[in-house]
Formats: sequence, structure tokens, C-alpha cells
Amino acid sequence: MHIEELELENFRNYKSVKTSFSNKINVIYGENAQGKTNIIESIFLCASGRSHRTSKDAELVNVNSNNFNVKIIINKNNEKKLIDYQYKSGKKVIMINEIPVKKIGNLMGNLLAVIFSPEDILIIKEGPSLRRRFIDITISQLQPSYFYNLQQYNKILIQRNNLLKEIQKNKSLIETMEIWDEKISEVGSRIVVARNKFLKNLNKISKIKHYKLTNNCEELEIQYKTNIEEKKFDSIDLIEKEMIEKLKRIRNIELKRCVTLIGPHRDDYEIILNGMKLKNFGSQGQQRTAILSLKLSEIEIIKNETDDYPVLLLDDVMSELDKKRREFLLDSIQDIQVFITCTEKDFFSKNEFNDILYLNIQEGNLYKI
Ligand code: ATP
Ligand code: MG
Repeated sequence: MHIEELELENFRNYKSVKTSFSNKINVIYGENAQGKTNIIESIFLCASGRSHRTSKDAELVNVNSNNFNVKIIINKNNEKKLIDYQYKSGKKVIMINEIPVKKIGNLMGNLLAVIFSPEDILIIKEGPSLRRRFIDITISQLQPSYFYNLQQYNKILIQRNNLLKEIQKNKSLIETMEIWDEKISEVGSRIVVARNKFLKNLNKISKIKHYKLTNNCEELEIQYKTNIEEKKFDSIDLIEKEMIEKLKRIRNIELKRCVTLIGPHRDDYEIILNGMKLKNFGSQGQQRTAILSLKLSEIEIIKNETDDYPVLLLDDVMSELDKKRREFLLDSIQDIQVFITCTEKDFFSKNEFNDILYLNIQEGNLYKI
């Protein structure tokens, strides 16, 4: 899959631009604060229905406007598709081939994209929510029903937490708890099964990538951490039963704390390097290399599952990688359409790659060189 054309209107610092791209490497270069990441952001928005930098569409609107519009023409096996993401009067409207998409889940999987930026190191360094987000976005692209389950789950979770609070005032509501235990377990169990399957796959593939990147010196391992017994991971029914039982067992604690304490909203996974937690014991360089292994594995998983390569968005990462890792990255992505941002054009020499397009960005203007 590749992107043929991008059109931005009143998106961030762009008033109105339209450009075509190379099927291979697109180098988006320019000084700081010119609008390089904004291009990457607009592409990722059309892939996932959400910016990687903010959850608020309103921030994406140019300061001098009230609406924005991103249009992307993708080409998949010579079939073209137009993704049209509009934000008008405070509401988003997404259209594919001019037909409105009713649920964001239906946008997922149309434009497959993997994004890699320096902040991704936080997946390792920070708490579990960023780690969950990383896998949730990828699984959603592969399986729109997963995204739908996540949305459902989050709704049920809010309602269940509200109920736990309400019971403080109105004890008779406790009778309705059983229904909510069943509801949350039904959807939660599907999320656990999907995450387990994905993480097993990620573990297998990233281990191999990481060995290659480190001359067989470092063993990378990913371990899913959820509050369900591991041997039940493959069965939706068994997970559902266990969740219901556990919720019953801890009901009094939940009633005291007024929050749901069991379920995939508390999931995490550990990233382990040579038997030690990477988060606590890994050097900065080791953490960066591990993220590179994870991102390259994400590309491979998408390719294996969809028989198509995603587009790759590399925002400012090249300058952070040493020569060996940079070469490994560029070797691994020969068949993929890539968008690379950097401040210096000369970072890439034309002799090294064919089909390379340079796009110079200056204050929200785009010049093909
Ligand atoms: P760097 O090299 O520092 O990463 P960049 O070229 O990637 O820079 P971007 O993050 O793409 O820069 O764009 C930043 C510019 O966009 C800033 O000048 C910022 O003020 C501007 N900007 C951000 N949001 C809006 C908006 N809603 N309306 C107008 N301009 C905006
Ligand atoms: Mg930037």
C-alpha cells in the first residue's frame, strides 16, 4: 500500500497544500517549527482516526480557521481510495470514497501506518497506558472489531464505576452489579484474547529482530501481564468466567474504592532484556534499540496478517540512531513507502537510494526539490 496524494486545508500551520509522493522514500526536511511533523500527523490521523500528539481535533485546526480538511489518496494493489477527514463546526466527518464512515472502527485498516518518533521511548519508560496504546492501535488496524470492543469496554467501565459510586448513596442498586460484571467480562475477555495473541507474536518476531540488531548479544522478551491466569489466555469463555468470579470476590473492596479493579484496563506487558526489566535496568541506547525492534516487528506483523506493507512514518528518529541501526532500519524497509522527517536534506544522499523525493517545508509551505 502507498499514499499517492495528500491535500491539507487549514490543518495546523498549513493553509492549503497538495502534493504527490514517491512510492518509496519521501524525505520531508526543513528547519524546526516549519510543519514537518504536522505532515506526519495528518497521515497518521487518516490511518487511526486520532492524532498521535493530541486527542483533540480542535487543536489541529489552523488558528485562523474553524474547520480543517485532510484528504489522502491511497493506492492498494492499483485500487485507489480517497480518505477524507473533515472537522467542521466542532465535529469530525470521515469519508471513504465520499461515503461517510459511521464508526471510526470502519476507518481502521484502510490506510495501514506505523509511526516511529523519539517519544516512542516512553512506551518503555512510562506507565502502562502508553504500552497499552501502542498495541491497541496496531491491533485495531488489523482487526476493526477489536477497536469496537475497546470502545464498548471503556463505555461499560465508566458506567460500572459510576454505579459503584451510586451504590454508596443507594444500597439497593447493588442488585444490578451482577449484570455489569457479566457485561464487562464479556467484552473484556475478547480484549484479553486479542492482546495475548498479538503480544505472543510480537514476542516471537521482536526477539529475532533484536538478536540481529545486537549481534546476538541481547535477548528481548515481552511478557503479557493481566489479572487472568495465563493458561486460560486462549479461551474467551474461561477468561470471562474468571473475570466474573474475581469481580464477585473483590466486590467489597471495589465498593469501598468505587473503581473497577479487575479487567484489561489495568493490563500491562513487561519488556525484558537479558532477563532484566528494560525499564529499570536498560541504558538509553538499549531502550532505543528495543523500540526499533518493536516497530520493525509491528511492520512485519501487519505484513503477515494483511499481506500488505503499512506506510512507515519516521519522525526525527534517524538522527537518534547510530550508523549501524540506521542501516539496519533502512535495509528492513526497502519494500515500504516511507516518510522521513529531518532538519538536513543531506542526511540522505541520492546515490544511496532510488525513488527518493525531497520535500522542503518552510512555514507551512511545501516545495518539491
Ligand atoms: P521540529 O523540527 O521542531 O520538530 P516541525 O517542522 O516538525 O519542527 P511541526 O511540529 O510540524 O514542526 O509544526 C510546528 C508549527 O506548527 C509551529 O510553528 C506551530 O506554531 C504551528 N502550529 C501548530 N498547531 C497549529 C495550529 N493549530 N494553527 C497554526 N499553527 C500551528
Ligand atoms: Mg517535528
